[in-house]
Amino acid sequence: MATKLLLTFAICRLIATVGLTLDPTELLRLGVDGQLTVDSSDVDTASLDFGLMSRAEPLAVLHPASAEDVVRLVQAAYGSAQGFTVSARGHGHSINGQAQTTNGVVIEMSGGSRGGVWLSPAGKVDSPRVSEKLGYVDVWGGELWIDVLKTTLQYGVAPKSWTDYLYLSVGGTLSNAGISGQAFNHGPQISNVHELDVVTGKGELLTCSEAQNSELFHAVLGGLGQFGIITRARIALEPAPQRVRWIRVLYSNFSAFTRDQEYLISLHGQPAHQKFDYVEGSVIVDEGFINNWRSSFFSPRNPVKISSLGADGGVLYCLEITKNYDESSIDTIDQEVEALLKKLDFIPASVFTTDLPYVDFLDRVHKAELKLRSKGLWDVPHPWLNLFVPKSRIADFDKGVFKGILGNKTSGPILIYPMNKNKWDDRTSVVTPEGDVFYLVALLRSALDTGDETKSLEYLTNQNRQILRFCDEAGIGVKQYLPHYTTQQEWVDHYGDKWGLFNQRKMEFDPRRILATGQRIFKPSS
Ligand code: FAD
Repeated sequence: MATKLLLTFAICRLIATVGLTLDPTELLRLGVDGQLTVDSSDVDTASLDFGLMSRAEPLAVLHPASAEDVVRLVQAAYGSAQGFTVSARGHGHSINGQAQTTNGVVIEMSGGSRGGVWLSPAGKVDSPRVSEKLGYVDVWGGELWIDVLKTTLQYGVAPKSWTDYLYLSVGGTLSNAGISGQAFNHGPQISNVHELDVVTGKGELLTCSEAQNSELFHAVLGGLGQFGIITRARIALEPAPQRVRWIRVLYSNFSAFTRDQEYLISLHGQPAHQKFDYVEGSVIVDEGFINNWRSSFFSPRNPVKISSLGADGGVLYCLEITKNYDESSIDTIDQEVEALLKKLDFIPASVFTTDLPYVDFLDRVHKAELKLRSKGLWDVPHPWLNLFVPKSRIADFDKGVFKGILGNKTSGPILIYPMNKNKWDDRTSVVTPEGDVFYLVALLRSALDTGDETKSLEYLTNQNRQILRFCDEAGIGVKQYLPHYTTQQEWVDHYGDKWGLFNQRKMEFDPRRILATGQRIFKPSS
């Protein structure tokens, strides 16, 4: 009864605000099993994201109990005279309001402020179901990757391709790409999905894969939430290793660093013992000790002073690699790592090694999160900028940005690692730069209000603009990852040759343009 009253209130508010001509009892008859709410803590949570730079209040929030709840809501939005928008929200870890909406309802796929998915008495939102024999797991679209990992490990298996941080939702990362140091070998997460259940913008629940509704399947992967809401994903698995040898080595010479990174990713076709399992890297431009939230690895036991390493122009590059292994192969792991390291050209004596359980390696960023939270440094604005840079121009990027625009302060980690384009499927919605290899450059900065102008949000945002302008003027041909634009022309430029297809898919799967309007690609039709 209380739920019904709350729902009526939510719907009346919705109707009053957008002027729907629907009879409220009609929406009530939708009979969602979850909860449609206007509770201020739910609305507040849905208004914000990790970026903390934009705020947009939805009219109401739905905690779905099943894919059918998502269907009911989207059908109501699609069928209503005036229309209202619907945005799926995973864990709200976007930077620029991509999961927000003002004139509509946010669907909290991962639970929102409740910290878990709303379960009806029937408990329809299933936990991950592993098929060991067939090597996949079926998961709810709002499932967090950490929970996918925990479940699959119980069966001795795990997904192949990851993000650095696991408190992200499956639907959220598959709407972008989902990348980490395994991508050179396995491709991004969107290359490791067998099948999806998707609720389109017309409110149809469709199963799609390479073989069935393939246009929708490819559209949704990397589709920024534009074509449908992922309610189930079937994710490829492999046997989970038990342990990880995690190594970092330093370079003062950028071309030696990128040569080695590119060599390591060229080994993707080799047998497992002849390649690393994970290849990433970072740029260290800060003065003094190497010490940021991603590199606690070096300190406090191993403090390294940049000046002691002869950094070129004050900049050092850190290659980060791992080798997975099982306790049964403990005798050969040292030799395998040694043989691979011998081929690299890093600064001698700059090898930092640690060894840890697989789950601890995958969940490494969460440890840093807890530390930052305890210091009040997590819930701050994050003007992050993620770029895909073609291999052919990465040296120009280094000169212009790492050794130029950034000066000697970064305000957060800067990741840089290459990926093989042949592991990406061009039929998906993602766009990548020209060439067979491209780099991710991730400037993961936090803005702080300390009085130091170089740490302020305004300074860092301006610097991001400067970087984008530099890339544009130098014709570097970068593509934004987790893109953010404010005009449709910028989106048209971003998609380039793919824009026609992207637009056509939008007309087909979300003709009223009601989904994921926080991406600011299309305006909803009234
Ligand atoms: P949200 O921010 O909630 O949503 C993102 C977009 O996806 C929105 O447009 C939303 O409408 C849409 N969406 C959400 N759920 C669904 C669904 N079920 N169906 C359809 N559309 C949906 N990315 C990487 O690739 N690699 C990394 O290593 C990495 N590390 C990160 C570390 C941190 C600390 C943070 C904050 C982000 C990181 N990201 C990384 C970026 C992350 O992948 C994206 O921000 C992703 O969108 C976050 O997922 P989310 O579940 O929070 O999505």
